[in-house]
Formats: sequence, C-alpha cells, structure tokens
Amino acid sequence: MVEIRLKNSKSRRIEVLQPIEPGKVSMYVCGPTVYDRAHIGNARSAVVFDQLFRLLRHVYGEGNVTFVRNFTDVDDKINARAAEEGRKIADLTAETAQWYLDDTRALGVLDPTHMPRATEYIEQMVAFIEDLIEKDFAYARDGHALFRVRSFDDYGKLSGRSVDDMIAGARVEVAPYKEDPMDFVLWKPSADDIPGWDSPWGRGRPGWHIECSAMAHSILGETFDIHGGGADLLFPHHENEVAQSCAAGHGFANIWMHNEMLQVEGKKMSKSLGNFFTVRDLLDSGVPGEVIRFVMLSTHYGKPMDWTEKKRVEAEKTLRKWYAAAEPGDAVPEAVVAALADDLNTHQALAEMHKLDGAELGAALSVMGLWEGQVPEWAVSDGADLSAFAARLGTAREEAMQTKDFSTVDALKSALTDAGVEVRMSKAGVDLVPGPNFDPAKLENL
Ligand SMILES: [Zn+2]
Repeated sequence: MVEIRLKNSKSRRIEVLQPIEPGKVSMYVCGPTVYDRAHIGNARSAVVFDQLFRLLRHVYGEGNVTFVRNFTDVDDKINARAAEEGRKIADLTAETAQWYLDDTRALGVLDPTHMPRATEYIEQMVAFIEDLIEKDFAYARDGHALFRVRSFDDYGKLSGRSVDDMIAGARVEVAPYKEDPMDFVLWKPSADDIPGWDSPWGRGRPGWHIECSAMAHSILGETFDIHGGGADLLFPHHENEVAQSCAAGHGFANIWMHNEMLQVEGKKMSKSLGNFFTVRDLLDSGVPGEVIRFVMLSTHYGKPMDWTEKKRVEAEKTLRKWYAAAEPGDAVPEAVVAALADDLNTHQALAEMHKLDGAELGAALSVMGLWEGQVPEWAVSDGADLSAFAARLGTAREEAMQTKDFSTVDALKSALTDAGVEVRMSKAGVDLVPGPNFDPAKLENL
C-alpha cells in the first residue's frame, strides 16, 4: 500500500498516516456555517479536503474511507441574517446548505460520507456538556455552561500558545458568568425569539466548538484519524475542540491538518476592497468549475494561495490541451499518486501530468477531480470550430432556396447531428450548439 505522509499541525511534523483501524481511514472536516454563499476562500478548504478524500479512496478503496463534513446550522450569524431578511431560520439554513452543495459539486467536490447538521445532534451535545460538568472541567452559571480552560493542562498545545499569552493578547471576553476570562461557552441561553432547546441549564443553544466535537465523536467514535479545516480555525475553534474532547476522556484526531488562506491578486479578499467573490459569482461569469479547481490545486494547501486572472487563463489553456489528449483510464501513474501521498502535493501532481497523455492522463485527471470520463462541454464547444460549419450551412441554405436542391443542407445537418451537435435554423440564422456527446473528431472530414 502507498504510504501517505501528512503534515500534522499538532506535532508540526510530517507524519506517516497510520490508521487506527488498519485499512480504514476516518476524517472529520469543519464544514460551513450556513447563512451565505461560499466565497472562494471557503471553497479552497472544500477542494483541498476533497482532494485528500480522493487520494484516500484511491489508496484504501472507496468503501474504506469515512469522511464527515458538518453543516453548522445553529449560530448567531444565522439568527442575525434571518432576522435581517425577515425569514424563517430553517428556510435560510436549508437553502444555504443546498447552495453549498451545488457550488462545491460544480468544483468536482464529492459528497462526504456523512453530512450531519448540528441541530440533529443537540441531545449528544447536552450529554457531552453534562459529562464535562460532572468531571469538573466545566460549570453552569446563569443559564450558561462554560469550559474551565485552566483545568485542562494541555490547553494551547495544538495552536502553540500559552494561556497567559492569550490573556495578554486580550481578545477574550470578560463576562459576569465566567470564572475566568479564558473560559469558553458550551451552552448559552436563548431568548424566546431565537432557536433554543431544553437543557439542565434552561432553554438555550450550544456554543460552536461543542457542536463539532459532539458530531465527530457520535459518528466516528472516540478517536479518529484526521481532523481538518482552514488555518483560521486552529485557534480558538480547534484548540477548544481538543480541550473539551480530551478532558472528557475521549481521545481525538491523530492528525490535524489546516489549509492556508486565499488572497486575490496579492490582496486579502474583503468586501471593502471590492475583490470579494463567491464561487457562484465565478461560475456565473463563465469560469468552469474545473478551472477553479485547477487553480486551487496548483498551490500546495499549506501555503497561502493567490487567485489571479493570469492563473485562471493558464489553467483553462492547460485543461483544454489535456482534455484533447486524454482518454478514459483507471491506472493512475505512480508519480501522480506519489506526489499526492507526499503531504498532498497537488502542485507537483499537476506538474507530473504535463508528461502524460492518453489513458494515463485520463486516470490522473479523474483522481484530481478534474473529469468524470468525458470532456466537459466548455472544453469542446470551442465556438470558433463550429462557427465555420454554421457559416457553411447558412450559405448552403441560401443556395438551396434558389436551386430547390436541399441535399447539401441535409447532408451537413445530419453529419452535425451525428457528431452530437444540435442544429437550430431560423430566419435569423444558423445556431450550432454542442451537446454533451459532442465529438469534434466526427467533423474532421466534413
Ligand atoms: Zn468545527
């Protein structure tokens, strides 16, 4: 079996992946909080961990990889957005979760094995918190439940910070119901007009950190192999996840992975700079999903990535070339697998692909999530190719109107139809639309 090595954020070293249960791999990745469209920074995380999922399936077999990615559908940002728009929270979260699936699927992202929603696991969260309180790692006060950070000696180990530094950094919230400003919320009370569930501490809702831990343990068990997410989640979200899980006596993930952030044309993406865009914006402007994915994978996940127009153009050119040279295949060349197994070096994997063609290239494109056995429509429907045929057909029709001999027109039409092109003729002119089965090779001798 191919040895997969991954950079573990916890040890800050490259480690060999050694599954807890030999031959099977389990992975949890923090998913979106569903109140808005995914921007391309969110999409980077989705693509990176999809690529890891694809590598794991390739190496261990599809049935041997369990991948959980959650939807956070209870959160104050959601409540605020719903109030702002005068909508029902459930409608907002259902719609946004579907958008997330539509948009990431367009980038070749496979559906994870499980996609739990936080609101389906409230009972497990309550039990988790009760257990922490019983073990004295947490306490209840004024309708809240809080994790007692100083009771957990290893707090700060994952992100490499000390509790005292964090206090000095002072982005901690001081509140009357906290014993210590560092303590974080496990449960908080809900006013009547926002979502709430009954609990031993009154009607309320969970804090964000407990959601992921409860879902991960409920589905994957006490310990699992990989926990992933964006680098922005390392602190406090993942630090808090580790603290509450390990304090409760569960183990947790053996390997933690974090993808770095995304910039646009060398600048941080922000609404005020006008360089903020969603995956849907890009897709609607005509950028194919495969091109977006290619650009994302051209930078190693552990480095900040810069989205540029130049990269987009280059990616489209390369993909057109590859699609023209590829044939369906299953045997992924070793060099490509080796690059991916080397801490998911997608940059190197793409570099190796420049040396390939035929079935090897097709198999490599598949494992990279860049094609599903046939060339995507955008890559074949090169308008220039068909416009010459449209002009010929137009001229032939004009002549036929004079001579009443339509045999040339009919021959051209049936040849185009055979090649998978839809022929639309009207008074306004001839329109040729390549269908999903368009095969340009069939037009070569026409
Ligand atoms: Zn999470």
